[in-house]
Amino acid sequence: MRIEKNALISNSLGINSRCKLLVNLECNDDLYSIEDLIKAHSKYYILGEGTNIIPPSFYDGLILKVEFNHVNNNNNILSVGASYNWSDLVTFCIKENINGFENLIDIPGSVGAGPIQNIGAYGAEVSRLIDSIDCFCLNSFSKKSLKNTECHFSYRNSTLKNSHYLIYNINFKSNLKKDISYKYNSIQKYMTKNLVNSDNLMIEDVAKIISIIRSETLPNPNKIHNAGSFFKNPIIDKKLINFNKFPEDKLIIWNYSDSLVKVGAARLIELIKDRLIPSKNVSIYKNHSLVLITNGKATQDDVLDFASQINKLVYETFNISLEIEPNIIN
Ligand SMILES: Cc1cc2nc3c(=O)[nH]c(=O)nc-3n(C[C@H](O)[C@H](O)[C@H](O)COP(=O)(O)OP(=O)(O)OC[C@H]3O[C@@H](n4cnc5c(N)ncnc54)[C@H](O)[C@@H]3O)c2cc1C
Repeated sequence: MRIEKNALISNSLGINSRCKLLVNLECNDDLYSIEDLIKAHSKYYILGEGTNIIPPSFYDGLILKVEFNHVNNNNNILSVGASYNWSDLVTFCIKENINGFENLIDIPGSVGAGPIQNIGAYGAEVSRLIDSIDCFCLNSFSKKSLKNTECHFSYRNSTLKNSHYLIYNINFKSNLKKDISYKYNSIQKYMTKNLVNSDNLMIEDVAKIISIIRSETLPNPNKIHNAGSFFKNPIIDKKLINFNKFPEDKLIIWNYSDSLVKVGAARLIELIKDRLIPSKNVSIYKNHSLVLITNGKATQDDVLDFASQINKLVYETFNISLEIEPNIIN
């Protein structure tokens, strides 16, 4: 176990943030050794690569970081350590001809964080790939393996979010049949424009297309500070939407269930963004209105103030409340 005092909390929003203690957990024994440390501190937070967090300037508690980096494929189960980089795993799967991961290429962050918000993109979600998740419970200080159904995955959510479970290993299904998903609107558009034939499309072809689309629409967090989509697409009763200021065809609305629709949050923000009071350190990314970017000088308050300004205007205009997607650390 490596412990660092007053350590930086790395985060893709570029917020200058430190914590009282950063605890790196490197092996099984380390998991069983953290009980005393946790009991001696008032709070803790589990950190992956920090691409989906909004941290404070100082976190007066323990930051726990899992450093399990293995990958083993046996008996149709791919067991992967929580700190393995997600996109590296997708690349590994494509090389090994393991199906189902390809649409999730280039999502930043670690494997361990994937199930927390059920990462998803281009019509795919990680929940479909998971067999079980090996956790260390920070209440009982014992190991617990959760079956897929016990995680209650839904759109950008699971019961693992804000739970006491520290994920150290995920068991993925490595025998899924090839079932290439290329019907997503932007993939279709790309294929039509570039005359890509869907016959004999391979998983690596879809991954390559998605990689290109992502690089054109999303900022690279290593160059521009951001946390990806800042708000979830709201799921609501269509009758509640206020269409007085903008007609229905100006919004992007997908059917979600018999009574609910999912509304494209990026479009809602696009329609109100001219009325926002600019922030010194936070702004909206030019290629994607759902992404907030910072100049590397923003604080947690700067980010949350700008987000709440957006939320207020969206609510006043459409009667829709937006929910912040990244995790706010208090
Ligand atoms: C440019 C960009 C694009 C993105 N695109 C997408 C996208 O297409 N789809 C999508 O779903 N997300 C996307 N994201 C969000 C982000 O990539 C994912 O949420 C990712 O899973 C976060 O991984 P991380 O390791 O950085 O987690 P962190 O940001 O460190 O943590 C995120 C959450 O997971 C918890 N956590 C992390 N590791 C563990 C663990 N081992 N055990 C228990 N809890 C843990 C943390 O406590 C926190 O609540 C994007 C982000 C960026 C910056």
